[in-house]
Amino acid sequence: MITEEQSRRILEAVDAAFDEQLSFTQELVKHPSLRTQEGSAQDLLHAAMAERGLDMDRWQLDPEELATHEGFGPVTVSYEDVTNVVGTYLPAAEAGRSLILNGHVDVVPEGPAEHWSRSPWDAPIIDGWMYGRGAGDMKAGLAANLFAFDAVRAAGLEPAGRIHFQSVVEEECTGNGSLSALMRGYRADAVIIPEPEEDMLVRANVGVLWFKVRVSGSPTHPREMGTGFNAIDAAYTVMTALREVEEKWNADRGQHRFFEDLEHPINFNFGQIIGGDWPSSVPAWCEFDVRAAIYPGIPAEQAWNEVQQCLAQLQTGPAPINAVATKTGFFSEGYVLEPGSEAESLLESTHQQVFGTELGSFTTPGYLDGRVFTLYADTPTLVYGPVSEAIHGFDERVSVESVRRITKSIALFIANWCGVDEQR
Ligand SMILES: [Zn+2]
Repeated sequence: MITEEQSRRILEAVDAAFDEQLSFTQELVKHPSLRTQEGSAQDLLHAAMAERGLDMDRWQLDPEELATHEGFGPVTVSYEDVTNVVGTYLPAAEAGRSLILNGHVDVVPEGPAEHWSRSPWDAPIIDGWMYGRGAGDMKAGLAANLFAFDAVRAAGLEPAGRIHFQSVVEEECTGNGSLSALMRGYRADAVIIPEPEEDMLVRANVGVLWFKVRVSGSPTHPREMGTGFNAIDAAYTVMTALREVEEKWNADRGQHRFFEDLEHPINFNFGQIIGGDWPSSVPAWCEFDVRAAIYPGIPAEQAWNEVQQCLAQLQTGPAPINAVATKTGFFSEGYVLEPGSEAESLLESTHQQVFGTELGSFTTPGYLDGRVFTLYADTPTLVYGPVSEAIHGFDERVSVESVRRITKSIALFIANWCGVDEQR
């Protein structure tokens, strides 16, 4: 472990640069890095990393190459100009353990702007909270990674291990960004991802499937409505059938480690719906989009087959429904962070040092890129980050003091994990 005096210097360095860290985070929030529009935010991160003397790598995601990996999520958009950015710190002599500091730059849509108290792309700090789409999920974390590293060096120390700073895309829809970084060859002895996790560590996390269901109808004039088949009405029947699958999976939770005590860990979200052509025509079609969760250890393919069986059953019986599902994004499995790794023990200690409380861990029923490093590179992955509110909602916000402490904890983690040399 580094000395108490070195720790003190690092913690002071985080405080000294914290205003600058907040301004950088605000600038990042002002770039609306919605899916496929991450370019300008990536430019900013690329410049920030290059300024720190890191070896820079930026590349466009290749769907064909990604499709050869089992963790690939099918792509419904063009990846032209959709890029990952990685900055690498290489110590003069690589004596310590290596580390990946990962974060995603993509954000989810802001929704109807009139329901926000102010622009989602402004990032004011009010009463200790920074607002804006992506402030918590997870631009504060991306900035924390860089400023934690800065603090170690500003404290007069040089990390003795290799560090990769990853700013990835596609975390909110396919997970292909982190997967692409993995396929490019980036590996390390541990990974930190400062997602908004309430100052806690993620112990287990669901996998996610995205798919679109298209229901076919038979159009007629409403004056003889009974002779047609209403695809929108039928879509509700299909949703009800899918809810039964959801409930069946939830009923199984007792058999899944770290999920036993959750009330409803498996959520199917019907997130978008569209259908029909005309108010006075019985609708010939309806399409809706589903996000479904699965437990760690359940192959995505197995879950997909159950969904297919559910839809196939609707095609039989007295009122058959023609519903076809296609994959539209996430096709990912969940993961468990096995307790007892050295990385976790170290985080427990740096967290205790900064927060003065024990590090808590919990299970999240949402997708995380942690699965990429855990499942496909067997690397201890610490998803650990600040307190936030309303992520994916209106008036998303992140706690500024929580960001400060998380940054301190990560800075101490970097110094202890990689080891440090005093600068000469
Ligand atoms: Zn996130």
